[in-house]
Amino acid sequence: MYKEIHCCICDKLFSKKESHNPYPYPDWSYLPSMENYNSEINRCCKDCNDKLVMPMRKNNLARYAFELDRLGRLNTNIDIGNEINTFNLPETPNE
Ligand SMILES: [Zn+2]
Repeated sequence: MYKEIHCCICDKLFSKKESHNPYPYPDWSYLPSMENYNSEINRCCKDCNDKLVMPMRKNNLARYAFELDRLGRLNTNIDIGNEINTFNLPETPNE
């Protein structure tokens, strides 16, 4: 039985097993607990991940890559929703 935690976005109670990294929602502020699978704070539910987090990443992929690079995370696969992409910085921000 997995512990239930509160979604950091909508406050819904859900299984910790289903938690997602909410970064960069809502304002691109990064906290290490966001990407810690064992964290019980600063994690979001699947609904919020699909409706808020993924669109924010996809809509500004260049900034997302920039911020990941700044955090030393660009060499990892980044999750932008349907697929896991190995990220290559686009030639132009609109690509
Ligand atoms: Zn939620």
